[in-house]
Amino acid sequence: MPSRTLRFDPMSGTWPMVTLNVLWVVGLTTALWLVADAATSGMTAQVLVYMAASGALLLGITGAPLRYFLLQQRAESARRETLLSIEAARRDFESRLARAMDMADDEASALHAAMQAMGTMVDDALVEVLLADSSRAHLAIAASSEGGDGADGGETLRGCGCDVATPRSCPAIRSGHHLTFEASSQFDACPHLRDRDGGCGTLTAVCMPVSVVGAAVGVVHVARPAAEPFDRHDITAFAAVSQQLGSRIGLVRAMSQSQLQASTDPLTGLLNRRSLENEVRLLAQDARPYALILLDLDHFKILNDTHGHDAGDRALRIFARLLQRSVRDHDLVCRYGGEEFIIVLPDRDLTAAAEVFDRIRLELAVACSDGHAPSFTASAGIADTTEAATLSEVISLADNRLLRAKDQGRDRAVVG
Ligand code: GH3
Ligand code: MG
Ligand code: MG
Repeated sequence: MPSRTLRFDPMSGTWPMVTLNVLWVVGLTTALWLVADAATSGMTAQVLVYMAASGALLLGITGAPLRYFLLQQRAESARRETLLSIEAARRDFESRLARAMDMADDEASALHAAMQAMGTMVDDALVEVLLADSSRAHLAIAASSEGGDGADGGETLRGCGCDVATPRSCPAIRSGHHLTFEASSQFDACPHLRDRDGGCGTLTAVCMPVSVVGAAVGVVHVARPAAEPFDRHDITAFAAVSQQLGSRIGLVRAMSQSQLQASTDPLTGLLNRRSLENEVRLLAQDARPYALILLDLDHFKILNDTHGHDAGDRALRIFARLLQRSVRDHDLVCRYGGEEFIIVLPDRDLTAAAEVFDRIRLELAVACSDGHAPSFTASAGIADTTEAATLSEVISLADNRLLRAKDQGRDRAVVG
């Protein structure tokens, strides 16, 4: 909003009215005095002349400033109306943007909302959102109007996107402030914009850093031909988009992080017991059969006692990774507790589960041979939903078979 200063100006605000009123009073008094004087002297013609002259005088004195004053008032109210409607449009844009972001429950939806919002502001520009990866060492395009998301400018400016590869080499991210470049041809334009001067024509650009939980980790980059520079209202809107995008990304990342922490085992990253139960409940709701492998590491106490607890932890992580590698993406792998694991194989039977265990057994032998952890083996009990109805009943069957596998000498599975 523009700042307003109070200052004396005889030709604006209330001062012209005061000046005009004084002129009216002085002029009218003089005219009345002259007319009265002429009338008392019985000079009718002179009275009429004085009246006409004073009328013309008053019109002359007041007409021009009055017209000037009225024009000024009209211009001022038009200016105020324009400012008010721009302000109302800004507020409307920001509240719609906030509503769209509120409905975005993952990062992709937040990016989509941001691109759509940018498209309503600058339909003819190239818009890109670049975000750092989890290591914060590389920048990648997370959304681009070149892909048809948001603005149409992506079509006409195809191939003119920003090629900045790391957060450190983006001046806007480095400074944490937005940067505006009038023209790519200018000597103080961003080097990543200047490089595009040849093939894409002279461009103008705005780069808005995107901050997630206080750290600038990305940038909203908007560019179009330099003949159409962005105005300050555009820049205000870009700032709102990058600010709300950063806040939403921060929120959805924090939410998914806490969901992940609540559903996984911190040491191995596998599902924990509660989330396994939830997942199996969904299978039961769909009446889907499954086979279950209950695995237990052999003589793990001895491994811990001999090589230390850290070596034991390392062995648990190696085993967890191996389990995940050995099954399909939608199979469920859980650290059930201590050195016990459960694999649930939807739509599979005892025979298929036994084959999976054989594969795990062989791969474990290979994994242990590289010397990263002391050598160890695992035993298993296998059951499926043709033998028992509920998860706890299937686990109980598998547990009995696991005990038999231990009794039979370990490093094996007992099925049925
Ligand atoms: P068995 O072959 O009969 O299963 O023998 P075992 O030694 O594996 O079984 P036992 O139940 O006697 O011991 C399990 C060991 O697993 C004891 C415990 O210290 C170890 N353990 C459980 N959780 C962890 C863990 O998170 N890290 C480490 N390093 N060890 C663990
Ligand atoms: Mg055990
Ligand atoms: Mg054990």
